[in-house]
Amino acid sequence: MSKDIFLTNNLTNKKEKFIPINENKIGMYVCGPTVYDDPHIGNARPLVIFDILFKILKSKFKSVTYVRNITDVDDKIIRSSNEKSIPISELTEKVIKSFDEDCDFLNCEKPSQQPKATNHIDLMIEMISELIKKDFAYENNNHIYFEVKKFTDYGQLSNKKLEDLIAGSRVEVSENKKNSEDFVLWKPSLDNEPSWESPWGKGRPGWHLECSAMSKKFLGKEFDIHGGGIDLIFPHHENEIAQSRCVNGTKMFANYWVHNAFITMSNEKMAKSQGNILKIKSFRKKISGQVLRLALISAHYKQPLDWNDKLLDDCQSTINKWYNVYLPSKGDLSEEILQPLYDDINTPGYIANLHRLYDKALKGNDHDKKTFYTACNFIGLFNETKEEWLSHKKVKSNITEAEIMKKIDLRNKARINKDYKEADNIRNYLLDKGVLIEDKDGKTIWKFK
Ligand SMILES: [Zn+2]
Repeated sequence: MSKDIFLTNNLTNKKEKFIPINENKIGMYVCGPTVYDDPHIGNARPLVIFDILFKILKSKFKSVTYVRNITDVDDKIIRSSNEKSIPISELTEKVIKSFDEDCDFLNCEKPSQQPKATNHIDLMIEMISELIKKDFAYENNNHIYFEVKKFTDYGQLSNKKLEDLIAGSRVEVSENKKNSEDFVLWKPSLDNEPSWESPWGKGRPGWHLECSAMSKKFLGKEFDIHGGGIDLIFPHHENEIAQSRCVNGTKMFANYWVHNAFITMSNEKMAKSQGNILKIKSFRKKISGQVLRLALISAHYKQPLDWNDKLLDDCQSTINKWYNVYLPSKGDLSEEILQPLYDDINTPGYIANLHRLYDKALKGNDHDKKTFYTACNFIGLFNETKEEWLSHKKVKSNITEAEIMKKIDLRNKARINKDYKEADNIRNYLLDKGVLIEDKDGKTIWKFK
């Protein structure tokens, strides 16, 4: 593909042409889940958006490494395991399993690497030692803190001054800190908390450090793209940049910072703390993952997406309609079709292209249908056969695709024989089963109403 990819880079606040460090080796890091509870729809948005960016990058470059970490040591996990009275390992394994199932349900590809924080504690200890040696971090009372004022570029990503950042957020207060903005790299563990031996006593790492350690291991000191939700910009991503650049002695950490906006419900952010979450799991038995996937990309990733039943209904009928021309076979995707995706992951623009391709396929030949199928497939749709797609509705309508086809065939024969009464009976029979038929250009198409 000769087309250039453009991304909105939050480091510069501009939409920029993507220029890789090494075009034979693209690296992307996205902050993954903290595995203390099953993921909700708000968590699903970055999963799908960065899955699509992964596909876009792969369509242009031969080798793309996508790393998405799993945070399996954290205050929230410890709290949740205490509340549920189950060991931490049992809790994290259960949530990781549920997370993987949700990813499959949403038809997200596996990242190239999915490292766990607890497997990289030694690397984090190494980094902390190095930061202390270089005088960017200090020890006090078995705690290690990063001294923010020693890193002059702090605040670059949020485009804010340090004072404003502190004023606008809840900074952890501790008498162990030299300055209120300093953040913890290592802290002692209580008796019932997970702990690791370190030069500063038994303890555990602060949250931010793991992403610096794991991105360095899998992608190197400097890499191309770092992604996540906008809520991670401060403090998490600012802190990642500070630690990584100071320990590595580099001018850059990630070159492009891409952040997705929130999912809202009645214009409020969907978050566990708001008590308005919908777990991905709760949809699994009700609808196809394709419907969720299409809903999640129906707005541009930089815009908030308001979640409601109408959105799901619309996506459901759109995909249902699209299955009318389902022909699972590889077709060609022109640059023109892909253009919106290359232009800052413009998924609504791409969906508009899909609608046009559908109209063309409906009137056109197999070539058009193959193109449409391939275009849907590119963003992870049409991953179910027509039969599988219909099975989500079978519960309601109690009719199989084979039976519908047989009835349509009988109806067509009746019409040829001018037995319009019989033809109408068949149409009404199907209608009772929730199947709408339509005669178009000499063909009969059908869909569930
Ligand atoms: Zn991170």
